[in-house]
Amino acid sequence: MLNTLKTNFGYDSFRPLQKEIIDHVAGRNDALVLMPTGGGKSLCYQLPALLFPGITIVVSPLISLMKDQVDALKANGISAEFLNSTLSPEVIEVIQERAVRGDIKLLYIAPERLANPSFRHFLSSLNVSLIAVDEAHCISEWGHDFRPDYRNFGALRELFKDVPVIALTATATKRVRFDILNQLGLKEDQTFISSFNRPNLQYGVEPKYKTFDQLVTLLNKYKGEPTIIYCFSRKQTEQLASDLRSAGYSAKPYHAGLSKDARQETQEQFITDEVPIIIATIAFGMGIDKPDVRLVVHYDLPKTLESYYQETGRAGRDGLPAECVLFYSLGDKRKQDYFINMMANAEEQENARQKLGQVIEYCNLGVCRRKYILGYFDELVSENSCANCDNCLAPAHDHNITALAQSIIRAVIETGERFGAGHVIKVLRGSKTKRLEDFGHNALSTFGLEKKTSEAELKHAVDQLIKQGIVKKDTGEYPTLSIDSEGRNLLQSGAQIYIQKPKTEMLKLSTPQVADLEYSTELFESLRNLRKQVADQKSVPPFVIFGNKSLIEMAHYLPKNREEFAKISGVGNQKLEQFADIFTELIQTYAIQNNLESKAIPTRAKAEQKRLVSREGSTYAETKRLIDQKLTLQEIANERNIKEGTVISHIEQLVISDSDLDITYLKPVESRLKPILAAFYKSGQTSLSPVRSLLGDTYSFDEIRLARLFLG
Ligand code: ADP
Ligand code: ZN
Repeated sequence: MLNTLKTNFGYDSFRPLQKEIIDHVAGRNDALVLMPTGGGKSLCYQLPALLFPGITIVVSPLISLMKDQVDALKANGISAEFLNSTLSPEVIEVIQERAVRGDIKLLYIAPERLANPSFRHFLSSLNVSLIAVDEAHCISEWGHDFRPDYRNFGALRELFKDVPVIALTATATKRVRFDILNQLGLKEDQTFISSFNRPNLQYGVEPKYKTFDQLVTLLNKYKGEPTIIYCFSRKQTEQLASDLRSAGYSAKPYHAGLSKDARQETQEQFITDEVPIIIATIAFGMGIDKPDVRLVVHYDLPKTLESYYQETGRAGRDGLPAECVLFYSLGDKRKQDYFINMMANAEEQENARQKLGQVIEYCNLGVCRRKYILGYFDELVSENSCANCDNCLAPAHDHNITALAQSIIRAVIETGERFGAGHVIKVLRGSKTKRLEDFGHNALSTFGLEKKTSEAELKHAVDQLIKQGIVKKDTGEYPTLSIDSEGRNLLQSGAQIYIQKPKTEMLKLSTPQVADLEYSTELFESLRNLRKQVADQKSVPPFVIFGNKSLIEMAHYLPKNREEFAKISGVGNQKLEQFADIFTELIQTYAIQNNLESKAIPTRAKAEQKRLVSREGSTYAETKRLIDQKLTLQEIANERNIKEGTVISHIEQLVISDSDLDITYLKPVESRLKPILAAFYKSGQTSLSPVRSLLGDTYSFDEIRLARLFLG
C-alpha cells in the first residue's frame, strides 16, 4: 500500500486515519468518513480504486471540483474521467465506451444523471468495484447544502447491492451524520471520525477599529498569497473590491448576483493564481478545492460557528500554516439582529438568535478559540491551550477586571453566599433555568449582568479571585462561595483588581504539520513561476502540478538529479517522468549561481516515520501496555529493545490520543523538574534546544523532553 501511495500519489506516509479507512474499504466494507477539509478524504477512495480490479464510481455534486480532481488524477498518471452537463454528447459517448471496455479506473458523475434510466443501464454494464459519495452531507436536509439530486442515490445502490460504498464529508454535526447513515443504509460502526482540529490554522479575532487599514495590514503580511475575504452583502463585496483595487491590490468580488460567466471567470482566475484576492458572500468556496489559501478574513460576523468553521476551513488545505481572522463589532451584531427580527417563523428566529449568540461568545472569548470551536462540534480537548490562536499566543499579561470582579462579588452576596461557582455564573449570565427561578434569582440585580461574558471567561475570573483570596471557597462536596470583610471593602473602595490572563501552556493539541524548512524565497518564487508556466501549458490549475509543500522541499533540499527528485514529497512516477528534468535544471542553475550544495533528503527519517505510521497501532499499544504496568522508561526501553527517547516519543503521541494514560509515576523528582520547567517558561516556547542551552549539560535531551510532558 505504501508502494502504491508513493508510486501513484508521490507521498511517503499516510495522514491520520487514512490507512485504517483504506484497509477497511479495500476489504470490501462500507464506510462513512468524517474528516475536516484538507484531511485527505480523496485518497480514502482513490487508493482503493487502484487496488480493485474494476471501476470506481464517484458521485460528486460540484462540476468544477470534478474537473480539478480528474485533472489531478491524470497528472498522476491515473486514468480518470468525469461525466456531467459541461461535456458534449459525443465526448460523453467516447468516455462511456472506454468505461465499458475497462479503460477507466475512476469515473466521476453528477448525481442528477442517476435519475436517467438509460444512464443507469449504462452503469449496469460496468464492472463496478466501489462507489464513493463525496460531500455526502448533501444528502441530508439538515446539512448546510442539501441537494435533492442526492436522493437518486438509492437507484445506484439498488443496481450494485454487493458493491461497497464509501461516503465522505467534512460536516461534523451529529444530526447530519446520522441522517447520512440512514439515507445510505450504512451501519454506525462503520463510521470513521477524525479530529476536526486543523492545527495549521491560526485563529484570531480583531475588534473593528479602522477596518480597512486593519485589512490592508493583513494583506501586506500575505502579499500575493491566495486570500478569501467574506462579507455580509453583495454591495459590500463590490465596494471593498473596488477600494482594494484603488489601493493597488488585485481583487475581485464574487456573489450570487453576478452572471454565471462572470463568476466562472473569477473562480478560474483565483484557481490559476491570476487574481489572489476574492471578496465574497458565502456563496464562494463550495466549488473550490484550492489547497494553498493562506488567509481567510471575515469582514463581517458569520451567522453560525458551523459556517465559520466551514469557511475558515478553506484555508491551508495543504497543511502549511494559514491564518483566519474575524473582524468584530457590536454594530455588526445589531445588523444581524435586525434580519433575525424580521424572520417570520418563531422557531427559526430563536434558532438563529442562539447560533448568533455562540458566534458572539466566540468573539468575546478570553481563552483558547480552537478549544471552543472543537467543543462546539462535541470534540472534547483536555489541554487548555493550542499555542496557535490569538488568545493562546498573547503573552501573559495583567488584565484589569475590576468591573467583572465587582459583578462576581455582588452576585455571591446577593445569592446569600450559599451557592457554588456554577450557580453564581448562571445568575450573572442570566440563564433561564428552573432552579434559578425557584430561588427567585432571576429577579436579582446581578441577574444577566454579565450576559456578554463567556462562561469560560467567568470561570477563569472566579478561579483567579479565589486564588487571590478575594472570594472564599469552602471545602466539601458542594463548595460554596462567600465574601469576607476584605472582599466587601474592595467593593466599596473601588480598588482596581488585576488577574493574569490565561497564559500559553506548553502542550499543544497536536503538532502542526508544517514545513519548518529553510529555503530561499527567491528560488521558491522561480519554482512557482515554472509551475505556473507548466500548468498554463497543460490548462490545469498550478496545484495540480505540485503543491507548495513540494516546492518548499525542492527549494530546501535542492535535488540534482532524478534519483533525488523522486524523494520529494508529492513526486510519484508520472510526475518524475514529466517534470524532474525541467525542475532540477532550474534548481541546479540557481544552486550553482549562489554556490549552494544539495542536501541529503532524509529517507531514513522518512523510513522511520513510515514504520511508525504503518505499525502505529501495535507499537504504541505495546508501549502503553507497559506504561499501564508502571514500568520505568529504562525498563520499557529494555523490554522493547528501543531507545528511551523513542519511548518518550511514543508517550508524546499517546498523551494526545489517549486521555486515560497515567504517566504521573514517570514525573521527574521535583529538584530536577523545577529548573527544567522554569527554563521552558523562560524560553517561552516548547522547543528543546533553547531550553537545553539555558540549562547547560547537566540535563540530557531525554530528561528535558520527559519533563516537557509535565508542563502547564
Ligand atoms: P479533503 O477532501 O479532505 O479536503 P483532499 O483529499 O483534497 O482533502 O486532500 C488535501 C490535500 O492533502 C491535497 O493537496 C492532497 O494531495 C494532500 N494529501 C492527502 N493525503 C496525503 C498524504 N498521505 N500525504 C501528503 N499529502 C496528502
Ligand atoms: Zn488556542
